[in-house]
Amino acid sequence: MHLVVDHPLVLHKLTILRDKATGPKEFRELVREIATLMTYEATRHLNLKRKVVETPLEKCEGYEINDKNIVIVPILRAGLGMIDGVLQLVPNASVGYAGMYRDPATKMPVEYYAKFPAFFDDTEVFILDPMLATGNSAVKAIDLVKAHGGKHITLLSIVAAPEGLKVVESAHKDVKILTCTVDRELNDDAYILPGLGDAGDRLYRTK
Ligand code: URA
Repeated sequence: MHLVVDHPLVLHKLTILRDKATGPKEFRELVREIATLMTYEATRHLNLKRKVVETPLEKCEGYEINDKNIVIVPILRAGLGMIDGVLQLVPNASVGYAGMYRDPATKMPVEYYAKFPAFFDDTEVFILDPMLATGNSAVKAIDLVKAHGGKHITLLSIVAAPEGLKVVESAHKDVKILTCTVDRELNDDAYILPGLGDAGDRLYRTK
């Protein structure tokens, strides 16, 4: 199941993100800001607990969420760019890491690093990867999180290819996917068209 976060602010920022003239400083800021806006949607289903507070005038019934119950898992390396944007809204979330590289021969993702906090039955897991291209790394990261006990998983990807959505949705029907756009297609090198190029390279100016 996927949801397209097509809020005007998101679409405006995404357009600047796509622009090849946008430099790394602005690119990082935009990825962070879009991640914050996506978190607003990703947290919509969270349970609220009643909480009484005292205003300067009287007692008032309010609500609280338990953001200590959230684990965010960036997929290295581009997912790192989204961490701060998510933590902006859920500052007590824990952060785990899933490191994946693409085997040049098989083109399939290979895990090289995994470090997660404890997952409890009610832990909400947000997996972060700005680009959902083939879907293979996302499937692998979800496999990893599930193997460590994660149950309630949302994948936050700023740009998705239809091919990748299909792959993740058929491998993990229970996982919610949030994206800001479903682009046209993948090219032969598994880049998303029109996309925004290599998100890791643009974040960290490695090309
Ligand atoms: N990863 C990226 O950074 N960009 C793409 O277009 C596809 C995968």
